[in-house]
Amino acid sequence: MDTSKANFIDALVALLGANAILQPPEDFARYTQDWAGHRLGEPLAVARPKTTEEVAAVVRLCRENGVRMVPQGGHTGLVGGALPDKDNNEIVISLERMNRVHSIDPVGFTMVVDGGCVLEEIKRIAEEQECFFPLSLGAQGSCQIGGNIATNAGGLNVLRYGMMRELVLGLEVVLPDGRIWNGMTALRKDNRAYNLKQLFIGSEGTLGIVTAAVLKLFPKPEQTQTALLAIPSVAAAMQLYTLARRSCSDLLSAFELIPRKCMELAFEAAPQLTDPLDVAYPYYVLMETAATGPVDLAQMMENFVEQGMTAELILDGVLAASSAQALQLWFIRESMLEGQRMRGEHLRTDVSVPISALADFVDEATTVVTHYSPESTVIPYGHVGDGNLHFNILPPPGMAAEQAVTVLHELEELIFDVLDRFNGSISAEHGIGRIKQQAYLKRASEAERELLVSIKRAFDPDCLMSADRVLPASMIKSSMNK
Ligand SMILES: Cc1cc2nc3c(=O)[nH]c(=O)nc-3n(C[C@H](O)[C@H](O)[C@H](O)COP(=O)(O)OP(=O)(O)OC[C@H]3O[C@@H](n4cnc5c(N)ncnc54)[C@H](O)[C@@H]3O)c2cc1C
Repeated sequence: MDTSKANFIDALVALLGANAILQPPEDFARYTQDWAGHRLGEPLAVARPKTTEEVAAVVRLCRENGVRMVPQGGHTGLVGGALPDKDNNEIVISLERMNRVHSIDPVGFTMVVDGGCVLEEIKRIAEEQECFFPLSLGAQGSCQIGGNIATNAGGLNVLRYGMMRELVLGLEVVLPDGRIWNGMTALRKDNRAYNLKQLFIGSEGTLGIVTAAVLKLFPKPEQTQTALLAIPSVAAAMQLYTLARRSCSDLLSAFELIPRKCMELAFEAAPQLTDPLDVAYPYYVLMETAATGPVDLAQMMENFVEQGMTAELILDGVLAASSAQALQLWFIRESMLEGQRMRGEHLRTDVSVPISALADFVDEATTVVTHYSPESTVIPYGHVGDGNLHFNILPPPGMAAEQAVTVLHELEELIFDVLDRFNGSISAEHGIGRIKQQAYLKRASEAERELLVSIKRAFDPDCLMSADRVLPASMIKSSMNK
C-alpha cells in the first residue's frame, strides 16, 4: 500500500477507532461480493461508523483527501450500486452499526429509525406496537432501511401502500461535503418549496448517506387471506387483478404472477416444498387481502374466487387455512429466486409497463425471445399488480457459460426494444447502479441527462460519493468544462 493510502487509513482509525475499520485480509466477502456472488470489488477499507457525526467525519476526511466513498447497507441491491470499485481506491461506509429504533408513535403511526436498521427488525418492532410497516421483500432479513430508501425499494405490498417514496416522512442525510441535512419531520403535509427528501429517496447513495428516517406506519392487519390460484394465462391474471380490486373492497395487498417453471425452480431450491395443487397449471397468482376492523374478509375472498371461477379466470386454487399455510405459499415465491440463482448464469430483468399492457408485453417479448433463442426458457413473474415484471430468461440447457452471457445480453437488448415500444421502464424497482447505466443513458433525453448532471454537480461536484453509479463520473467532469 502506498504511503498516502496508509496515512489515510491511519487517519480513519484515529477518527473511529480500530474496531470500526476493516481492512483486507479480514473477511471482506460480505462487503465485496454482490448477492449473486458474481461481482467482486476491492475497497481500500470498510468504515463502520456508529453515529451520524461519525459518518459526517468520515465523509469530510474522504473529501479532504480526495478519496472516493460508497455507502453500503445490507448489500442486497441488484444493480451493483453498493459494490466497491476493484482498484483499491474506494472506502465502503457501512451503516451496520447504526441500527437503533429510536421511537414509535402509535397515535401518529410513525417510527424513528437509524439508517442501518435491518428491515425485518423494523417490521417486528412495529408489530409489537400493533402497527405495520408494509415494505416486504425477499431480502428483508438483511437489507437495511437506508438501502431501501436509497433504492426506493418496492416489494410485495406496493399496490396497496406504495413504494419507499410513499413510506418516508422525514430523513437525515450526510451530504457529500460532510454537512448534515436534518429533515426529520413527522409531518404528513408539508409543501415548503422543493421536496429535498424525495430527491434523496431513490438516489442510490449518489447524493448523500441516509443516516436516519421517520417512517410511516399503518394499523397492523387483524386478518389476512392468502390464496394461490391456478390460471390459464397472463391475460387471465390481469383480468383477475381487476376483478380482485373491485370485489375485495380494494383491500388487496399483494398480487404476484408465478409461471409453472418458477414453481418448479422453487421445488428444486427447497425440496421440502410440495405442490399445493394436484395438477400442474401454466400460471398461478399468489394474492393476499388484509384488513382491520369488522370486515368479513373470508367471505369476500370466497365470493371473489367464485366469480373468478365462473368467469373461467380461475382453474383451481388453494386458500390458506392458517397463517402457517400462508407462510408456506409465500415460501414458494421466495424460493423461486434461489432456484434461479442455483441454475447459474441467467438473465434477470426488472421492467414495468402500464398495467393494462402487461399481457401484451409478455406475448410480444416472448415471441421475440423464442425467435432468437428457441431453447431458452422465459420466466415472467413478479408484482404484476404494479405492472412490474421480472421477465427473466434461463439460457438453453447445457450452453457454456461464456456463450450464455452473450446470448442473454442480446436477449436483454431485444426485450428492452420491445419495452420501448410499450413506453415501459428498464428498471421498475432495482434502480440503475452500475449495471443498468448504459441501457438507461441510451434512453434518457438530452434534457433529462443535463438535469441529472446538474443535480449531481450541485451535491457532489468532485464526484467522490458513489462515483460512476447512475451517471458516469466522466459525464459530470466533462460538463464542468462546458
Ligand atoms: C432475494 C432478493 C429479493 C429482492 N426483492 C426486491 C423487491 O421485491 N423489491 C425491491 O425493490 N428490491 C428487491 N431486492 C433488491 C434489494 O433488496 C433492495 O434494493 C434493497 O432496498 C437494498 O437494500 P440494502 O440495504 O441491501 O442496500 P445495498 O445493497 O447495501 O445498497 C443499495 C444502494 O443503496 C446505497 N445505499 C445503501 N445504504 C445507503 C444509505 N444508508 N444511504 C445512502 N445510500 C445507501 C448503496 O450505495 C447502493 O447504491 C431484492 C434483493 C434480493 C437479494
